[in-house]
Amino acid sequence: MDKDFTGLLHKNQLKVTAPRLGVLHIIANRDSAVSQPALEKLMGDEVDRVTLYRTLKTFEEKGIVHKVIDMNGTANYAICSESCSEHAHHDEHFHFNCTNCQKVYCLNELHLPAVKIPEGFKADSVSLSITGVCDQCNKN
Ligand SMILES: [Zn+2]
Ligand SMILES: [Zn+2]
Ligand SMILES: [Zn+2]
Repeated sequence: MDKDFTGLLHKNQLKVTAPRLGVLHIIANRDSAVSQPALEKLMGDEVDRVTLYRTLKTFEEKGIVHKVIDMNGTANYAICSESCSEHAHHDEHFHFNCTNCQKVYCLNELHLPAVKIPEGFKADSVSLSITGVCDQCNKN
């Protein structure tokens, strides 16, 4: 698995470092987005806060991960689809905020409708989120 991440970093002209591999490993192996505080906890002593912040910013710029702000205003990160590239994200899907477990899910199959913004406005990103209870919480 980590081998793929090495390839991914190379493809994006990024040096392979332990924190980068660690962060990718965590974000890619989850069914939901990971919040920045959760990442800090999971990485523990492996990475300091500033490095983590920079790593996430780099990944975001490269089109490797995308940021999702949850209902508490916390930044969460999810892995991008293949179609994302540097400065060109194509994460036009809905996000689901679970009010019970606080997880944020990418609903990749649910595409955003085409929106027509007023003339003179320039959109950098569009996001739509749904708040409710996720399937895992619903089961219990
Ligand atoms: Zn993306
Ligand atoms: Zn839930
Ligand atoms: Zn997403």
